[in-house]
Amino acid sequence: MQKPYFNLSPKETLEQLGVTAGGLTGQQAAQRLEQYGPNRLAEGEKKSWLAVFAEQFKDLLVAILIVAAIISMFSGNLESTLVIFAVLILNAVLGTVQYFKAEKSLESLKAMSAPSAKVLRDGQRMEVPGDQVVPGDIVELEAGDLIVADGRILNSWSLKVNESSLTGESEAVEKSRDAIEGAEVALGDQKNMAFSGSLVTYGRATMVVTGTGMDTQLGRIASLMNETQQRKTPLQKNLDDFSGKLAVVIMVICAVVFLLSVFRNGMGVLDALMFAVALAVAAIPEALSSIVTIVLAMGTQKMARQNAIIKELKAVESLGSVQVICSDKTGTLTQNRMTVQKIWADGTLTPGTDLELANDAQRALLKIAVLDSDATMNAESGAGVGDPTEVALVQLGNYFYVDAPVYRSQHPRLAELAFDSDRKLMSTLHNTDDGPMLYTKGAIDVLLDRSTHLLTGDGVVPMTPERRAEIEKVNRELSENGLRVLAFAQRPLPEARLLTLEDEQDYTFVGLISMIDPPRPESVKAVAEAKKAGIRTVMITGDHKVTATAIAKQIGIFEEGDLAVDGVELENMSDAELDEKLPHIAVYARVSPEHKIRIVTAWQRRGCIAAMTGDGVNDAPALKKADVGVAMGITGTEVSKDAAAMILADDNFATIVKAVLNGRSVYANIRNAIQFLLSGNMGAILAVIYASLAGLSVPFQPVHLLFINLLTDSLPAIALGMEPARPGLMDQKPRDPNASMMDKPMLSHVFGQGLMIGVVAMIAFYIGLAQGGAALASTMAFSTLTLARLFHGFNCRGTESIFRLGLSGNPYSLMAFGTGVLLLAFVLFVPALEGLFLVAPINGFQLLCIVVLAFLPTLLIQLSRVIRGK
Ligand code: ATP
Repeated sequence: MQKPYFNLSPKETLEQLGVTAGGLTGQQAAQRLEQYGPNRLAEGEKKSWLAVFAEQFKDLLVAILIVAAIISMFSGNLESTLVIFAVLILNAVLGTVQYFKAEKSLESLKAMSAPSAKVLRDGQRMEVPGDQVVPGDIVELEAGDLIVADGRILNSWSLKVNESSLTGESEAVEKSRDAIEGAEVALGDQKNMAFSGSLVTYGRATMVVTGTGMDTQLGRIASLMNETQQRKTPLQKNLDDFSGKLAVVIMVICAVVFLLSVFRNGMGVLDALMFAVALAVAAIPEALSSIVTIVLAMGTQKMARQNAIIKELKAVESLGSVQVICSDKTGTLTQNRMTVQKIWADGTLTPGTDLELANDAQRALLKIAVLDSDATMNAESGAGVGDPTEVALVQLGNYFYVDAPVYRSQHPRLAELAFDSDRKLMSTLHNTDDGPMLYTKGAIDVLLDRSTHLLTGDGVVPMTPERRAEIEKVNRELSENGLRVLAFAQRPLPEARLLTLEDEQDYTFVGLISMIDPPRPESVKAVAEAKKAGIRTVMITGDHKVTATAIAKQIGIFEEGDLAVDGVELENMSDAELDEKLPHIAVYARVSPEHKIRIVTAWQRRGCIAAMTGDGVNDAPALKKADVGVAMGITGTEVSKDAAAMILADDNFATIVKAVLNGRSVYANIRNAIQFLLSGNMGAILAVIYASLAGLSVPFQPVHLLFINLLTDSLPAIALGMEPARPGLMDQKPRDPNASMMDKPMLSHVFGQGLMIGVVAMIAFYIGLAQGGAALASTMAFSTLTLARLFHGFNCRGTESIFRLGLSGNPYSLMAFGTGVLLLAFVLFVPALEGLFLVAPINGFQLLCIVVLAFLPTLLIQLSRVIRGK
């Protein structure tokens, strides 16, 4: 029997998998993809069409409608019964289609943020989508990567992996290439294997893929990926809550109307029941929840087009009420395009291009810069590949004809301690003419403290307080100009061996290299826009306080009276002190990802909704904690993307501000659509209650009300969801996240506008009654109600008059109006529909009355706005 992979040596594993050290060939990879299928877990249990369809009926409001249909049947109104059932089924079909459409679009959004892997194929390093990885692929792993397949580790440099998705153990485990000879070993003890679904938290490694898709430990144990079902957003939950309450109110009102009709007006029980049915149908906003979902979904699609990929639907709402954005500096606010400016070594500060290679210290500086970094230049395009800070160093080397790959192969790396933003250092060990030498680069405040000596042109001298002070002075000068300063040091080691963190001390300080990372031009505008919108932008960075403050000033984040604190100061602050200073702190410098949680929590303690950006592995907890966690699509690690609610496809701060604008606009549009639907319903409710109290016949048939609620009202409501963002939307303060949507202004609009619509419908009813009788009265009331609500769609586009909003501002609202009018005309004038909709023929005068009356509420509302506007 074949030994398990962890009992094979790397060489045996490669042989068994039929791979060479250069990886699979493109052809092999294609064949294996065919053979093993895409590297995906089997889909979780999907709901069937039937199950989703059945779910659409599990609603109290639907139950009320079913009761209404049954009552209609017993009262001899079979058409109504059939129509109600037809409508219920249609509604359920729409709901089902909606569900699967939403699921599909979520899937495509998820696919946009799916993990990728760096593989070696045909000897070339390339990035492929995670599902294209096949057994035999050689995968490169580094901190922040999500491991997409099971594999045998071929080489590793201080690799640490979090396997909590498999073992439940949250502590990261060390992995190495060394095989353990043994029979049965527990998963976590297979130290030379890496497993799909685990996260690289530290170090680097290469592994050869031994299993993909369901043929992985993860595939065998469980399918963690299926947990990512979307939950309802707070708004959707609020609306569900509202519907529940509405159902109860409707039942009570129906009962009261029924009793009043029977006992006060002496109406027959069946007639009274018809009133109750009409009322129930009038009051239930059948299309409300689908419309909210549609508008939210349209919002996320619009955001995706603008580079903000929404992973959680609820982020759309939260974005609208964001009060503070805590943003990383490098790459988000700045361009992350580093260029070396001045360098300092052996007591001289000169432009990088004037480096003296004859000077020992200056030469050593360049040597460390090239050897102690991983970046390379693409031979064809000349573009840098890797961390931009390191690309700048390699470019500096290039300037002096030092070809990084050649130079590195002449001085092979024997061991390394990878860079991480907590330590702010990176070290590599090389054999040199002077024996094994540890080269370290990193944050100056960290490295200077650990330096006991200084390299000069005349050799190594002790680090005296004066020399220290001079270096600090140079650093301050450079940092004040917004330059990032990197320090370089070296240390001879007695022997070549694996490195530990304890080795990073007792250095000989070599020099400084400063680089410029210009702000993104759009950052300045976006910060100003956010400020106008009442949103505070705070910079959080691993960079030096002076550098960070200089950049923050350029971008407009740091203003007179603001504070900048660094990680140490933050740690020394009590929560109470932090709470007091929080509103004034514009810059957090030299902070570790762990500090980010503290900052977010402090803002949340103030009751603020906070967005937080992050790209590293350690940023994940803060991204989860923030109300809107924002990950970087280009430079972000898979771990951070996994934890975020939104991913920026362009890593750009300005995109967050755009997303906030969209979030606000989506919320405003939903609010307008709800106001529109509810005020229209209110009109119908008031008319029915009035008719029952006045002892008139039922003004609307259930068919009429369903026609309005589901067809002619849905169109303008969706059009309201497409309303472009109002120009003044970013001049307002953020919305209070705890305020209910059903606030006083909303309720007074719903009631006031509903009253006007109800009144004109009843006037039409009386005209019809005088001119023809009950059938004509009902036809006129129904037509006026429909048309008045169609006109009302324009009123709900905003709070300003239509002249200000501009009719062409939202072409969809015109289309919705036109289609609604057409549908109404069909019902009124197509003889075949007369029986179904129980309408009586109308003449020209009656039609004129309908149009004038229906327009009246809109005229009044618009007039009042024009007057108020003046
Ligand atoms: P952000 O603003 O997004 O936090 P940052 O680049 O300023 O980004 P880190 O990447 O955490 O923050 O870097 C913190 C510090 O570590 C830098 O100011 C620099 O001194 C040092 N540093 C950055 N990159 C490297 C690297 N590749 N090797 C060694 N030191 C580095």
